Amino acid sequence: MSKDKSAGQRLEEKLLSKSDTLGVKDAALLEQSKGFCEEYKLFLNNKTEREVVEYTIPILKKHKYKEFQLGKKYAAGDKLYFNNRGKALIMATVGRRPPADGLRIGVSHIDSPRLDLKPNPLFEDSDMAYLKTHYYGGIKKYQWTAIPLSLHGVVVLNNGKTVKVNIGESEGDPVFCVTDLLPHLAQNQMKKTASEVVEGEQLNILVGCWPYNDEKVGAKVKLNIMNLLFEKYGITEKDFLSAEITAVPAFRPADIGLDRSMVGAYGQDDSVCAYASLMAELDSTEPEFTTVTVFADKEEIGSDGNTGMRSLFFRDFLEDFLSAYGLQARHVLQKSVCLSCDVNAAVDPAFGDVFERNNCSYLNRGPVVSKYTGSRGKYSTNDASAETMGFLRRILDDADIQWQVGELGKVDIGGGGTIASDISVHNLDTVDVGVPVLSMHSPLEIVSKADVYLLYKAVLAFYNSKLSK
Ligand code: MN
Ligand code: MN
Repeated sequence: MSKDKSAGQRLEEKLLSKSDTLGVKDAALLEQSKGFCEEYKLFLNNKTEREVVEYTIPILKKHKYKEFQLGKKYAAGDKLYFNNRGKALIMATVGRRPPADGLRIGVSHIDSPRLDLKPNPLFEDSDMAYLKTHYYGGIKKYQWTAIPLSLHGVVVLNNGKTVKVNIGESEGDPVFCVTDLLPHLAQNQMKKTASEVVEGEQLNILVGCWPYNDEKVGAKVKLNIMNLLFEKYGITEKDFLSAEITAVPAFRPADIGLDRSMVGAYGQDDSVCAYASLMAELDSTEPEFTTVTVFADKEEIGSDGNTGMRSLFFRDFLEDFLSAYGLQARHVLQKSVCLSCDVNAAVDPAFGDVFERNNCSYLNRGPVVSKYTGSRGKYSTNDASAETMGFLRRILDDADIQWQVGELGKVDIGGGGTIASDISVHNLDTVDVGVPVLSMHSPLEIVSKADVYLLYKAVLAFYNSKLSK
């Protein structure tokens, strides 16, 4: 066929880089990705870090993962996991080569932006009961009004017992919402800047309007709601102090588009990468180098806290795991490589002016590899070295996986960081890889199924690669 091409066409093919939309060269890929994303949609029903960990552990056990044992020297092919407080998780498969030769690490996060209940949330106003919230992570507040919300979380009772809360996800459950102002009376509201259109203290969740039947009681609607919660969960108002309850969009994950090419769901930042790396971890049964897959919490609020990537739990686990081989984590980390798996912004033609088209990622062109994120003059970023980029590029190209480069947007427009800078602090070669997302951090984030599938293939190729640094 190449005979039919002109000299210029042949030269163009050889010298210039070009990325096609997925499916042009390989139509079968689209069907494979549809199949892959059926299970992915089930994973997305887990909408908090706790739910993801709880869902994942039985899957790990089914795949012969055992809880990590301190002091045990694991053999090639052994699979283990470490559960950090039910909110973060480390999974590993021991490689054929000794851990001293380095690890292949994949980190993603399993928390997503949402509305957390305040410690004293329940109040009554104008004969309606509400729950006050404090938003978690970077949200456009106005996007969280007038949509169905569900409540997820745990309450630790005074007797030490933990009660799980999940309302609004099961068929027939009630859902909740934050109200918005009718346009007829919104003349002043509509003049405000978007960050003030709905303010933090207006993000109150409507939970009822019927009174407790007793004339002598003051806040009758509030009492009625508290009584319902007591009957269902045995909780009193004070128990909210020792609780983590969060409101998230109640939408079910769904196919988007007539061609069903996309998945629309809450929390795909970063469950899409968590799922892809989990599947890769499960499928790398005899890796050359030991694989370590991490689900981190707290990324959306800066990774602080003992279940976030700025906590020492990751380093401590490695110290413990490696001490059985007589190794120090720092020596092994120097020889290791990490994929920091997180989403990136896909070019959105509706807001085209914020993207630099030569260096931003596109939906359905494959996983996006970002040398750096950060903002302005590359502040707050892990800027992966040319060597690390070259290492990953070889793996992806050898495995024939289409990928693309991606900056977050135009240089001066804004920016944002990922966990990569908290990982590379361990003197570990790290590079950002992920999936391009439309409407990131909104209640309904959108990805292309083929990108999800190819991220899985990319992480699997990285885990299975025999390539040394
Ligand atoms: Mn993220
Ligand atoms: Mn995010």
